This record gives sequence, structure tokens and C-alpha cells, in this order.
Amino acid sequence: MAAEYQMLIGGEWTGGSGSERLDSVNPYTQEVWATLPQAGDADVARAIEIAHDTYVSVWRGVNGRDRALMLNRLADLVEQNGPDLARIDTTDNGKVIRETGSQMKFAARNYRYFAGLADKLQGNTIPLDNGEMLDYTIVEPLGVAVLITAWNSPLPLLANKLAPALAAGNTVVIKPSEHASISTLAFGRLIAEAGFPDGVVNIVTGDGRIGPALTTHKRVKKISFTGGLPTARRILEAAARRLVPVTTELGGKSPNIIFEDADLKAAVNGAVAGIFGASGQTCIAGSRLLVQSSIYDEVCDRVLEKVRGIRLGNPLDPATEMGPVANRAQFDRILSLIAQAENEGAKLALGGRQATGPGLERGFFIEPTVLKDVEPSLTIARDEVFGPVLCILRFEDEADAVRIANDSDYGLAAGVWTNDVRRAHRMAREIEAGLVWVNTYRASYVGAPFGGTKLSGHGRERSWHTLMEYTQVKNVMLDLSGEDRDPFAMKL
Ligand code: NAP
Repeated sequence: MAAEYQMLIGGEWTGGSGSERLDSVNPYTQEVWATLPQAGDADVARAIEIAHDTYVSVWRGVNGRDRALMLNRLADLVEQNGPDLARIDTTDNGKVIRETGSQMKFAARNYRYFAGLADKLQGNTIPLDNGEMLDYTIVEPLGVAVLITAWNSPLPLLANKLAPALAAGNTVVIKPSEHASISTLAFGRLIAEAGFPDGVVNIVTGDGRIGPALTTHKRVKKISFTGGLPTARRILEAAARRLVPVTTELGGKSPNIIFEDADLKAAVNGAVAGIFGASGQTCIAGSRLLVQSSIYDEVCDRVLEKVRGIRLGNPLDPATEMGPVANRAQFDRILSLIAQAENEGAKLALGGRQATGPGLERGFFIEPTVLKDVEPSLTIARDEVFGPVLCILRFEDEADAVRIANDSDYGLAAGVWTNDVRRAHRMAREIEAGLVWVNTYRASYVGAPFGGTKLSGHGRERSWHTLMEYTQVKNVMLDLSGEDRDPFAMKL
């Protein structure tokens, strides 16, 4: 019997004004394990109006210390409930429990990090040319923020948005993906327990049909979106009508670059972590492995050996390294992109089909796939796959590596493997990406800014930089002179 979940609007759990419900499918069993409401436009509007009223009448008056206390309590609760929340995400999107377990610790750390900043949003006094004028700034919240997340990591993605939004004093309306909403709804139960007043955090569910109601409402002052480029374009178009600022965290085709002087054991490990961790369903996937010619064959052999050993299975089993991909649409899309790559001439070195075997019968499993000698012009080397598919490309020297790495519409992440410290810094400077890892890959810390360039989006999450995306600076200027002024001349 599928569990029935409700939305959170104004502190109340509700099925919404309509009767339509959506199924949440476990990608390991293909069974419907939970259902969720499909919100109507009226439900969305109500959630936004409540968030606005709560902002004006309650939340705006809550000081930074009290916001910090609530965020710290929320961090405690996420830690305590981490194992349950991890199990929900693993059931909902097939991500292995080793990953979702550590993701909950990351989410909790995120709330704690921003709790530490909630009472430090301070302006400054500004010395003007005229000493009779007093000038200072106030850092203010924006109001209602709409937070839209993708299915691949619902709660860590939400923490990237919700923690700074609340720390800065905004109220929010959250929309998770229809494919993985349940952990967000379970997390919603912790909000009241942490002490947040009703209406500060609201959660509406449903598919993309509710997008316009969320992104065009006049009360919305900020949108933060994680997802794909086509949706981002629709949201940016809607937001442009009301000049609402939008943070966009989108996809990538990130280069992971191994130089001949690298520690190859660590580099090969990083290459595998970069693309087969989370079944390749991460925006930062190192889907293009660039290997210097002199070590190309050796690295390919080592990568293939390691990939052959990846353990597929039940994502709830802590021994499993790769679970199914998250849903049927993803499964079909990934297999068709692999077929297209072969048609375009890519050399399939490993995998490429549905994975079969004991315990894999009902899940959306795809074999860990490696394509060798991939030309940078092929579709598979240019488009995001969002699955366990590694393209290995060859480069000759540093300039060649930079040229190939930057020959992409995306610019989210990059990895560089080298023992030459000068080269490491040169590469970090030259690569067009929001983050560059050197001698590591997929390391995540909430204090380090995260976000993309080019078609990977704009704006940053994590780190104190993010607070700027949820605040505005007000300037206040006082004339202390008491002098008569010329009304027709600018005062200097
Ligand atoms: P998506 O289809 O763009 O969906 C993202 C979210 O937008 C979902 O909640 C979706 O709801 C919602 N949505 C759909 N139509 C909308 C509309 N018209 N207005 C407002 N919201 C709407 O992306 P996805 O397939 O879920 O996620 C995969 C993409 O996310 C990949 O490109 C990946 O690289 C990217 N991603 C980026 C990051 C990052 O931090 N840079 C992290 C993770 C993922 P429904 O799902 O219910 O339709």
C-alpha cells in the first residue's frame, strides 16, 4: 500500500484543492511506493500569499539570533533523522544509501553553517566627501523566495537554497521534483519542530504544470532553481516580466583532466568517482575524461579494470556502489544517447546496455559505460547525459587540454590531476568553470562557493557569497548640517 503524503501550506498538511495525485515510483522495483498531491494554481497562490503575509507580519520581526537558533535546531533534527531521510531518497530516486547517508550530513552542515551567519548580516557606515552627511547601509531580506529543486539530490539541493534564504530572513515556497518529492515532505515535518513559525516554510508538490503559477506571482521576490536548461529558460522568461532575480544551477559536461605527471592511482579513482558515483546523475559529473597521449592507454586500461569491478545492486544495501537510474525517462534517454554515440563513431569499450543479473531484474539499471577515443565534436562529448557514461578523450599538451576543456557550452566543474603546482594554478586560471578541483573530484564543502558559468547557470550556492543572492542592500543617507540648500543643485 503506497503511503499518502500531503503538502505543507501555512503550517497545515493538505492535499490541496483538487483530487489529482501523482505516483512516486521506486526505480529499483518499479513499484509505486508513495503518492503526492498535484497542486492546483489556487494552492500555489495560497502558499505564496501565506508566505508573504508571514514575512510581513511575523518573520521580518524575528532577529538574526533567533533565526540562528531555529536553523541550528533544524540542523540537529536533520542529523537525527538523517538515516530515515536517506532511506526515503534512496527509495525514491535510487541513489545508493552510502551517498544519501552522507548527503544528509552535508544538508545538516549547511543549516548549521548558515545559522552561524544569520546574526552577522550587517551593513556598514560609509565616509562621504561631505562630513555633514551620515551614510550607512542595511542588509535586508527580499521577501518570498521560490525554491525549485531537481530529483537527483532533493534534500542537499534544498539545503543549498533554504539555509541561506532563511538565514537572511526570507520566507519560502518550495517545489521539489514530482519524481522525488517525498523526502522534502518528510523534511517538512521538522520545520515546526525546529521552531519556525507557520507559513515561513511552505511546500507545494506537483509536476511542471504548477511552474507558471510559482514563477509569475507578483509576491515572489526571488527564484532559485536547480534543474535543466529548457526549464531554466522558461523560468527566466517568466521572471523577466517582473524583473525577479533568479539563481540557476544547471547541467554540465565537466572535464576531468589527467596529466602524465599525475598520481595515476588517485587520478583513476577520481575519474571513476567523477562519473560513476551516483550513477552519473550529478550536475558535476566528470563526464569527459581528458588524458594526455603519453599515458592514454595505461589510464584507459586502469579505468576499465576499476569500472568492471563496480558493484550494482539494491541501492539500500550499503555494499552497493551503483544503483539504478532514477526513472524510466532517464533510463530510455541514456540508452538512446549511447546508441547515438555509437552511430556517430564512438568506440564502446565497456557497457552500453541495460544491466542484468541477480537482483537487477526490475530496476532501471544501466551498465557502467566507457567510450574511448571520443572526438570532442561528437554529441556524446557535448551534451549532458546525466548517467553512468564516461567519454575518454586524448590531448597532447597543456594548451590542447585547455582548448578541449573549454570547448563546451557548459562551465560548471573541472578536475585537474597533476603534481606540478605551477601547472595546477595555470589550469585553474584558464579553465572556464565555476569550480576547479585539483587532485580530487566531487569533494563538497558548504563553505566553498558552488555554481556555474556559461550554460551551467549563474549565481552561487553555499558559502557566504550566497547570502548576497537572498538579500538587498539599502542605503540610508542623513543630512546632519541643518543648512539651507539650493533646491536646483545636486548636493555634494
Ligand atoms: P528539470 O526537468 O529542469 O526539473 C527541475 C525542476 O523544475 C523540477 O522540480 C521540475 O518539476 C521543475 N519544473 C518543470 N517545469 C517547470 C516550470 N515550467 N516552471 C518551474 N519549474 C518547473 O530538471 P531535472 O531533469 O529534474 O534535473 C536534471 C537537471 O538538473 C540536469 O541538467 C542536472 O545537471 C541539473 N542539476 C544541476 C545541479 C546544480 O547544482 N548545478 C544539481 C543537480 C541537478 P518536475 O520534475 O515535477 O517536472
